[in-house]
Amino acid sequence: MWEYAPAPESRDIANLKPTYRMFVDGQFVEGGGEPLKTINPATEEVLAEVSTATSDDVDRAVQAARRAYDRVWGRMPGSERAKYIFRIARLVQERARELAVLESLDNGKPIKESRDVDVPTAAAHFFYHAGWADKLAYAGHGPDPRPLGVAGQVIPWNFPLLMAAWKIAPALACGNTVVLKPAETTPLTALVLAEIIQQADLPPGVVNILPGAGDVGAAVVSHADVDKVAFTGSTDVGKLIQRQLAGTGRKLTLELGGKAANIVFDDAPLDQAVEGIVNGIFFNQGHVCCAGSRLLVQESVADELLEKLHARVSTLRVGDPLDKNTDVGAINSREQLTRIQELASSGEAEGAERWTSSCPLPDKGFFFAPTVFSNVSQAMRIAREEIFGPVLSVLTFRTPDEAVAKANNTPYGLSAGIWTEKGSRILWAAQKMRAGVVWANTFNRFDPTAPFGGYQESGFGREGGRTGLEAYLDV
Ligand code: NAD
Repeated sequence: MWEYAPAPESRDIANLKPTYRMFVDGQFVEGGGEPLKTINPATEEVLAEVSTATSDDVDRAVQAARRAYDRVWGRMPGSERAKYIFRIARLVQERARELAVLESLDNGKPIKESRDVDVPTAAAHFFYHAGWADKLAYAGHGPDPRPLGVAGQVIPWNFPLLMAAWKIAPALACGNTVVLKPAETTPLTALVLAEIIQQADLPPGVVNILPGAGDVGAAVVSHADVDKVAFTGSTDVGKLIQRQLAGTGRKLTLELGGKAANIVFDDAPLDQAVEGIVNGIFFNQGHVCCAGSRLLVQESVADELLEKLHARVSTLRVGDPLDKNTDVGAINSREQLTRIQELASSGEAEGAERWTSSCPLPDKGFFFAPTVFSNVSQAMRIAREEIFGPVLSVLTFRTPDEAVAKANNTPYGLSAGIWTEKGSRILWAAQKMRAGVVWANTFNRFDPTAPFGGYQESGFGREGGRTGLEAYLDV
């Protein structure tokens, strides 16, 4: 056991302030709701107090977004909108270090991930969509695709800045205005993005950011003057929103949970596959909707692969999110830690074999050691439910048909991975799998040019790529 305390200078680099306010109509203002305290999950210390919105604040924000849409943004030529979005992209790059440290403090993710993945991918998303703003006539959605109006957007806590970028960039590129609600445990980088939006001189009301809990999200998505709702989060809340919007005629896209299969065939280069499996489930503590949480391995290589996997996972360093050598950071909240613990216990109770990395954990903060379950059967909860933590369930198969059948045996359908040297098998399996993204001999690759989204209970609609624009256009 050891105690971890973040270096005091990290607060300066993150430009951490004691209080943060919501962003409405181009101004930072106090919300009418009870302020929330956001904590550092690695230390359990309060990072800052954040003002929250009431339904009246949501109404004010939607009205501001409507005015901005009607008077300025919805009429502005795409070439003009592009200049603003390029400015946002460059400012995200300029403030990258501050954003990365703040993200790791607020979310608990390792700094090497926020520095090398979250922040640069967020900037890339703004650059990519800035490039589309003046080319919408060539997007393949008709010669004159129109924006939808005001977009109400709600995002989760696992990629706070990146999810905000995924939502805001395409909406703005297409000429919509935005009311966005970040997750209650990770509001800080979205509010720094609001500063960036102010710095980039966007007209007031084009983007509004309102922190708060689920009730604020509910007020955003159910507001009668919101034309389009984009939600990323759990399948349960996604279903609720779908029911609420039924019959309203408002457009909706849902990016929900997952239980991805990562399939390793007997001809795969096993050492390379192990790297992909580790990245697939332990990246971002497994708080990833498309995490490769079910490993399906061909029986003939299962023992060898498992041995290599245990050896590799034993080398992962768990702990201080701000240490550049940390591989697995803190679980985002006590609530999520409890859920992971409960599901892992169910795996043992149902007869799976539990292996846990012996890496020492800090004695404060929310940490969970990387865990691998073998002898897992499809009926077990750990094979069926989204754990959203650093827990891998290993199942075996004999034939390619059985592998695909097991991969598809889930109500979700967000992503999948295939490890094999046979190109024909990759194409065959990718065709047969009901998953929005299928990675071959790699995992967790994200690119703004590639549409991302799910099937079945993983939601509908796509974000990114040319297809992603459809969600924000009247085509
Ligand atoms: P969650 O559904 O609990 O919360 C997501 C957001 O919705 C939060 O901002 C929350 O405050 C808000 N919310 C809660 N109740 C609401 C309501 N009734 N109406 C409107 N908004 C409401 O999910 P979470 O625990 O924050 O995030 C984890 C989930 O998100 C996982 O299931 C994960 O798979 C999913 N996710 C999916 C994707 C994707 O692209 N498919 C990406 C990231 C995360």
